[in-house]
Amino acid sequence: MLRRGESDPDGLEGLLQRSGGSVRAAEGPEKVGGVRAGDDELDVAIVGGGMVGLAVACALSNMPLTKHLRVAVIDSNPALKSTNYLKKDGIPDSRVSTVTPATISFFRDIGAWEHILQQRHAFFGKMQVWDYTGLGYTRYNSRDVCKEYLGCVVENKVLCNSLLLRLQEQKEDIKKMVYPTRLASLAFPSKSRNVGVAGLKPPSTEAEELRRSNLVKLDLSDGQTLYSKLVVGADGSKSNVRQIAGIKTTGWSYPQSAIICTVEHTAANDCAWQRFLPSGPIALLPIGDNFSNIVWTMSPEEASRHKSMSPEDFVMSVNRALDFGYGPHPNSSSLDHYVERLFSDFGGTAASTKECFEVPPRATGLISERMAFPLSLMHSHDYVSKRLALVGDAAHTVHPLAGQGVNLGFGDAAALAEVISEGVSVGADIGDLSLLNRYENDRKAANVAMAAVLDGFQKMYSVDFGPLNVLRAAAFHGAQYISPLKKNIISYAMGDRKSPLFS
Ligand SMILES: Cc1cc2nc3c(=O)[nH]c(=O)nc-3n(C[C@H](O)[C@H](O)[C@H](O)COP(=O)(O)OP(=O)(O)OC[C@H]3O[C@@H](n4cnc5c(N)ncnc54)[C@H](O)[C@@H]3O)c2cc1C
Repeated sequence: MLRRGESDPDGLEGLLQRSGGSVRAAEGPEKVGGVRAGDDELDVAIVGGGMVGLAVACALSNMPLTKHLRVAVIDSNPALKSTNYLKKDGIPDSRVSTVTPATISFFRDIGAWEHILQQRHAFFGKMQVWDYTGLGYTRYNSRDVCKEYLGCVVENKVLCNSLLLRLQEQKEDIKKMVYPTRLASLAFPSKSRNVGVAGLKPPSTEAEELRRSNLVKLDLSDGQTLYSKLVVGADGSKSNVRQIAGIKTTGWSYPQSAIICTVEHTAANDCAWQRFLPSGPIALLPIGDNFSNIVWTMSPEEASRHKSMSPEDFVMSVNRALDFGYGPHPNSSSLDHYVERLFSDFGGTAASTKECFEVPPRATGLISERMAFPLSLMHSHDYVSKRLALVGDAAHTVHPLAGQGVNLGFGDAAALAEVISEGVSVGADIGDLSLLNRYENDRKAANVAMAAVLDGFQKMYSVDFGPLNVLRAAAFHGAQYISPLKKNIISYAMGDRKSPLFS
């Protein structure tokens, strides 16, 4: 394993050297609290350099009041070393995210979106959702809300890469910022006062000891120790940071797994499709050229069967699930058009109410490995404690049926960076609980509301029962033909509104 300061030809330093950039030598230590702080003392230590952790780092590096903070990202993920543009013409990775217009605005604000545009991405302006009973369908169109697109599908590795590229533009010393290792243990101030345990360097001066005793102590797997005013737990759903902080969670596992993979068509797909089947939804998402991404939810047993069947059988199964399998195609009735006319008096007609049901493009081949993920809902009781904030999947996981998970995480990243900036502007301690509570208050209600909506959908669609099927059909018809309802749903899913309710 490379230690800090050693050269890695494939890593960031190598990349910077190859691209003519320079890795700045460590600047002299800054003054913190009147005493000179060492290189191992930080303002913000971000544990986890996934999409959300990198977004926090990027947002902080972008804002005038926070760009001078000493920020570290700790993650051993080798992807953090690759900051070249990823080839657009390669086969798309099977891990993708549908990002909302709210997320796109955030990426634009922090200067990372232009790097996405240089790499593979697929905007979509149309979406069709229907269910296997053939009783109803809903089509959405970005024109319903006078927008250019409903969302954009981007590979997760492109999202990370774009954030890293942006960080590299902002920080000459990105190599100093990214620690390619893992968090081993964490001690919050009251505990870290008991310094002197095996392996710790004794503080060189009393002043240093005093200052550090008020910081969080992070022991890393490569033997280094860091001290920070604030720790951001961005280390995913099994967050070590959350567990060490003793923050409890509420949630449950769904009796479902999601299979994801990339398939090919004979022509380009420009629409996001989702069909609800008795076992769970299957989504076909455009990812550029003639490729689509599949996210197919089913029981864990079915998932392992679908993972191991031949690619030809799998493609046949996908086409059946997206077309004639399980039930007929839905149709519009004259009653639907009556409802449409009735509600057009309240807020105008949405363009897509007149769109007919379409059959999605057939997959012609499987071109990636199939991966299966168990699904769960999880929500942290607290997002913050003194000197700690949780973001992204470390704070909440939701069912992927509406592609909202990482969008909520990006919302967390934006809100936390904003709160830290507010703290800096008034000279507050950025690890202070009353400051961090503002972040929790801002995000918790929005995240809980989305988790509840998605959980409701998951439950509503996992029962095959006559009266409930009729109720679901009514919901599809309502969303298709009642324009104000349709516009409300689109705005909420696009991240323009924090609440699913009319306001
Ligand atoms: C099948 C599926 C489809 C999905 N589709 C969508 C979608 O379309 N749209 C959407 O918005 N969301 C989607 N999601 C959700 C989305 O993938 C997650 O919300 C997102 O990955 C969370 O990002 P994160 O950065 O919070 O956590 P993660 O992606 O889990 O990253 C955590 C990082 O922390 C690091 N780490 C962990 N432990 C340590 C440690 N001890 N020390 C240092 N580093 C550590 C890991 O290496 C990792 O890099 C989907 C999820 C699934 C399962």
